Amino acid sequence: MNLRKSLARMSPHDDAESAADAAQRAELFYRFGGPVALVVLPFVANSLLFHPDRAALGLFALVLVVLIGVNAVFVRIRQTLPVPSILVALAAAAAVGSATKLLGMEGVVWTYSVLVMLHFLLARKAAVVVNLALVIATPLLLQPQAPLEASARVFATLLASVVFLNLFSSVVERLQGKLREAATTDFLTGAYNRRHLDKTVSDAIERRKRYGVQASLMLLDIDHFKRINDDLGHGTGDAVLRAVAHTIRTHLRKLDVLFRIGGEEFLVLLPDMGQDGATGAAEKLRAAIEQSPLCGDGRRVTVSVGLAELAESENMDSWIRRCDAALYQAKTRGRNCVVAAPS
Ligand code: GH3
Ligand code: MG
Ligand code: MG
Repeated sequence: MNLRKSLARMSPHDDAESAADAAQRAELFYRFGGPVALVVLPFVANSLLFHPDRAALGLFALVLVVLIGVNAVFVRIRQTLPVPSILVALAAAAAVGSATKLLGMEGVVWTYSVLVMLHFLLARKAAVVVNLALVIATPLLLQPQAPLEASARVFATLLASVVFLNLFSSVVERLQGKLREAATTDFLTGAYNRRHLDKTVSDAIERRKRYGVQASLMLLDIDHFKRINDDLGHGTGDAVLRAVAHTIRTHLRKLDVLFRIGGEEFLVLLPDMGQDGATGAAEKLRAAIEQSPLCGDGRRVTVSVGLAELAESENMDSWIRRCDAALYQAKTRGRNCVVAAPS
């Protein structure tokens, strides 16, 4: 099974964070669900068969094993998680809580691994709430049997575990964010690269299909860019690319998305915008670039623009091809102009 694809299918959220969370949860069950269930099972059997006084503990642990097992099996065969993570978390908390109550310090040892499990299984805020509840409840459950000093030590070490887990995750998440950004943006201009293009354009196509929401694409190509490189050097060429990207960005709305898709070619996705709006926006952009002193020697930098409104049931290839054909027309009409593809 292609895990990535299946997990992506499981998380139909637009929001990248929750999709990533759902994928992470699914992966946890996929990889560790079975082994965890197998490790806990002997302890469940031991409590239920040989220690009638630990029946509650055995039952909570059995419920936990069953819930984890169900998710582990379903994520493999159906790519779904039928049991919500919070239920698994509550079963785990009940199991370690009763282990602490019944076995004292011997039972507490399970709580540490459950803190780790819940940290990764639940969304960040929910994990902090449930884990802090465990940190507070565990020393209380040890009372009155355990010495106060032992309870205080348990409280401090459980709290330290939660703090370390959160610190560690924050560092990893920050690094992941940087990696994600590096993987999807063009180093020179800061525009998104092709890797990000597929998903963003596919989302626009999906919204058109499902809800009839308009969208347009704008393809901009710098005119005679080779001459800038040849006359002024590659360094100036790079500076012009950065300046053009900056000018485009300052004229876009927040929801528009800029991609650099070739050497001196940029693509802009204009969500919720039909052909008339897109033509107006493209004309403004073309004029702004023409009027900006982007080159050191005073020459005008201009762009040709081809644009196309997304047609009903059109796919990505056809949409971009129509844009490309419109750009080609703009070049043949003498450059520094905007051409809209016929709908
Ligand atoms: P046209 O008006 O028909 O678009 O002509 P053009 O000269 O802009 O187009 P052409 O495709 O002939 O040349 C594009 C040039 O862009 C050639 C290539 O060396 C240059 N180029 C591509 N990537 C970069 C880059 O990252 N930095 C710089 N400085 N130049 C680049
Ligand atoms: Mg060009
Ligand atoms: Mg080109």
